[in-house]
Amino acid sequence: MEKKGLLIVVSGPSGAGKGTVLAHTTEKYSNIKYSVSVTTRAPREGEVDGVNYFFKSVEQFEKMVANGEFLEHKRVHDNYYGTPLKGVQKHLLDGYDVVLEIDTEGALEVKNVYPEAVMIFITPEKLSTIEERLRGRATESEEQIRIRMKNALKELKQAVFYDYVIVNEDSQQGAKDIISIINAEKCKVKNNKKFIDNLLMEANNYDD
Ligand code: 5GP
Repeated sequence: MEKKGLLIVVSGPSGAGKGTVLAHTTEKYSNIKYSVSVTTRAPREGEVDGVNYFFKSVEQFEKMVANGEFLEHKRVHDNYYGTPLKGVQKHLLDGYDVVLEIDTEGALEVKNVYPEAVMIFITPEKLSTIEERLRGRATESEEQIRIRMKNALKELKQAVFYDYVIVNEDSQQGAKDIISIINAEKCKVKNNKKFIDNLLMEANNYDD
C-alpha cells in the first residue's frame, strides 16, 4: 500500500475552537503531525517557541520568504504567518497525516499547489460564540477583537471552497468528525490506485 500521508488543511475563524478540536484529535489518533508555522507576532502567555509557532522577527521572516522556505505565507491581522515547506514534505513522505491550521487565504493557496489537500472548515454554531471566546481568552485588546471579528466574517465567506465543515458544538465530537474524514479520505479509490493496480496484476494469474 502507498504510505504517503494526507495533507489536511484546517481553517475557521479565531475563536471557533480549532485548537481544542485538534488537541482532542491527537489524543484519539496518533498518525498525525501538526505543521508548526512561523510567525512575527509576539508569543502569548504560555506559548512555546518551536511548539506553538516559530517566533521570528520581520527581517528573519522576509529572509525565509526570499529563500523559498514557505509552502505559503500570508499577512494575517497585523502579522506575518507562514508554513515551512520542508517539515510538511518530510512528514508526508514518512507516512504521517499532516495538519496545517492556517487562514483561508493561505489554505486556498495550498489547495492550488497541492490539489489533493483535504480542506476542513471549523465553525462555531453562532457568531456570538466567537466574540465570547475571544473575550474569555482575555489576550486581545478591544481593537484586536474588532479586527478578528471582521476577519471572522471574511473567513466564513470562504467556507464554500472547503471539502468539509465541522460545526463545533462539542470539541470531542469535532475530533471524531475529523478522524471520520481522515478515514473516509483514506478509503477513496483515488487514494488507493496503487493497491488496486497490484490486485489487478495479481488477477492476471487467474486469467483463462
Ligand atoms: P493566531 O495569531 O490566533 O495564532 O492565528 C491567527 C490566524 O493565523 C489564524 O486564523 C491561523 O489559522 C492563522 N495562521 C496560523 N499559522 C498560519 C500560517 O502558517 N499560514 C497562514 N496563512 N495562516 C496561519
